[in-house]
Order: sequence, then structure tokens, then C-alpha cells
Amino acid sequence: MKQPTIELLAPAGDVKRAKIALDYGADAIYLGGKDFSLRAHAANFTDDEIREITTMAHSRGKKVYVTVNIIPRNYDFDQIIDYAKRLDTLDIDAVIVADLGVIKVFREYTKIPVHVSTQANVTNQHTALEYVKLGATRIVLARELHISEIKEICEAVKGQAEIEVFVHGAMCVSYSGRCLLSNYMTNRSSNRGDCAHSCRYNYVLQEAKRPNEYWPIEEDEHGTYIMNSRDLCLINHLQELIDAGVASLKIEGRVKSTYYVAGVTHAYRQALDGIKRDYLTELDKISHRPYTTGFTFDKVPTQYYPAAREEQTYEFIGLATGTQTMLLKNKVNPGDTLEILSPNLAVDGKTFVWQGTVQNQPETTIEIVGCPYDLQINDILRRPKQQ
Ligand code: SF4
Repeated sequence: MKQPTIELLAPAGDVKRAKIALDYGADAIYLGGKDFSLRAHAANFTDDEIREITTMAHSRGKKVYVTVNIIPRNYDFDQIIDYAKRLDTLDIDAVIVADLGVIKVFREYTKIPVHVSTQANVTNQHTALEYVKLGATRIVLARELHISEIKEICEAVKGQAEIEVFVHGAMCVSYSGRCLLSNYMTNRSSNRGDCAHSCRYNYVLQEAKRPNEYWPIEEDEHGTYIMNSRDLCLINHLQELIDAGVASLKIEGRVKSTYYVAGVTHAYRQALDGIKRDYLTELDKISHRPYTTGFTFDKVPTQYYPAAREEQTYEFIGLATGTQTMLLKNKVNPGDTLEILSPNLAVDGKTFVWQGTVQNQPETTIEIVGCPYDLQINDILRRPKQQ
């Protein structure tokens, strides 16, 4: 599958992960500023950091999109206008916006192209075309669409706007965060980037007149009332999305780890570049809930997952800081077999046995002992997870 024109879009929670995403093959990254980004728990970027990473991305022929996708209130708008004017000076490639009022601000006060966020829940071509009339150059579709609907919308907006879809990462059981569960239960708003993921809590059933008796809720062949979702994974269906006319493939996860950003971006990069391998086994090595293809091929998807825990078959041991040094992330023992994850295909997937002593001081930089390969900065060392 060689598709040089389709964009691979990866998340960046901070400057370090932005560089990792670019190194591991993203064509573009999306990130939040300190203001009005729907990820209150990501570190997020100062204006200077947005400028720095944008300059770096452009020097490599890549793009930077900034999310401004909260659902704002009247009192937010003075600050939004100020923020829009500041973003207009930073040379970014687009803003990702969910609210009509915010779109108006960016059309009025800036020349920045506007992408409509998945948070706007665009599920049909009529809505997509209305956003085009308002000046949007790209629509990020709702995750809840079937491939036939994605294709129809791509055809309807062809030549007027691009279509972006999510291909990987966490899913909501409401329409992309339009949910008040977290507000009710924890006073944290998913519409302002502060979701407590209340849908993933472990719920029990209680009959009103029996206050101290709780029944577990179980899944049967008809489904479940447990609201926790599996993770989306479309890596084995990229050709269908390309054939449908999609312009950009998006990976979810601005609060995810360095290892997640590197591993997932790398897998999708290789898949798009036509490298043959077992990608589901590869993606199992990285933190995730069981995967689903979501609504893309099934009207009633296998979405629910009766536990909140995430799983991964490998663990992150270190991040290379030089050809033979790494920033330690996890304990490493004599005799451990370590695997290299790298954008450099000459060493990617190679393994070696750790010849050094036990090392157990995370966030310290240490010599790599026993590696016959020269690493490059941001290569990752990992190990099968020990039970
Ligand atoms: S509580 Fe769950 S369904 Fe609601 S916005 Fe948060 S992640 Fe989505």
C-alpha cells in the first residue's frame, strides 16, 4: 500500500512527544495550547513551544494543527479572540474547532485554515457542506460512521474540503465526548477537556428498596449496560479508507505516553508504506483495551469491554539519548532480551541481551550494555512484559 498523498496525523501531548511523533513517521501532528484545548490533563504547549515545534515540523515538510475544541460559554470569548490573534502569528497549518462561534472568531480575526473537530459530531454530507460554506477546509468525521457513509461524505465534499477520520485509540460511548456523565459524577467536564472517564467505572445494580445489596452487571448475547468501550483499531483497513477518499488518518491520544505515540505512529507509518507484518501483534505490545473496528464495518459494533484495565504485551525500558546511552524508564535485569523500536529500519525489531548489571533508577541516563547496533536519539528499547 504505497499512498504518498494520504496524511498520517499523530497526537502530541508535549514537545517531547511531538518530536517523537515526527521521528516515527507522522506527516502532521495535532496539539493543544495552554488555552482552550480539549485535553486538560495533557501538558500542552506554550505559544513559544508551538512556534518552535511548527518551525521544526515545517523544516521536515510536515504540518502542525492546534486544537481549540472546547464547547465554550459566553464568558470564554474575550480570551478566545485574544488566543486566535496570538495563534495567527505562530505560522500553524490549521486550528481544529468544534463550536460555530469559535469558527466565526477564527474566520474574522485570523487567516488560519479551520478544521471542524470530531467534537462537532459531523455524521452526514449536509452538515459537512454547511461547514464548508462557513469556510472549513477539513472535516474530522464522527467516529460512529460506516465506511459507506464515510465514502458518501468524501464524494459530496470532494474539491471543496478534506475528510479526516480516526483510525486508532480510545472511543467514547457517547458521540465523541458530548456527554455529561463526568460532570454529574465528578464535576469534571468532558466538554472542557477534563473528562474523568466515568463511563469506565465498575458499575453495579442496586434495587431501590435494598440499599445494601449490590449485583454485578454482566454481559450477555444482547449486549451490556456497562459503558466502557474497546479501543478503535483500523490498521488492517487503511486501503478501504483510502479508496473511500479520506485525506487524513488520525491517531487518538494526546495524554498517552511516549512509547504509545512512537509505537502506534510507527505501525501505521509502516502499514501505509506497504511493509508487510502482523500489525495487530505489534499493536498488542502497546497499552490498549481490546481492539474493535468500531462502527466502520458494523452497524452494531463490538464496542463494549467489561473492565477498565488496559493491557500490553511489552513494556518500555528506555529511550535512546545517544548511540549507546538511554534514559531508563523501567527496571532492566542481566539476561533480559531487549527489542529495538526505531524509525531506522536497519535496527528496527532487532534484539540483544542486556549484559549489564541490574538497573532500577527510572529517569536516569545510563550506558546500554550489550547492544551491537548504533542507536539514534529517540529509539526505544522494550521487553516482553514480565507477569
Ligand atoms: S465519561 Fe466516557 S462517554 Fe462520557 S465523555 Fe468521558 S469518555 Fe466519553
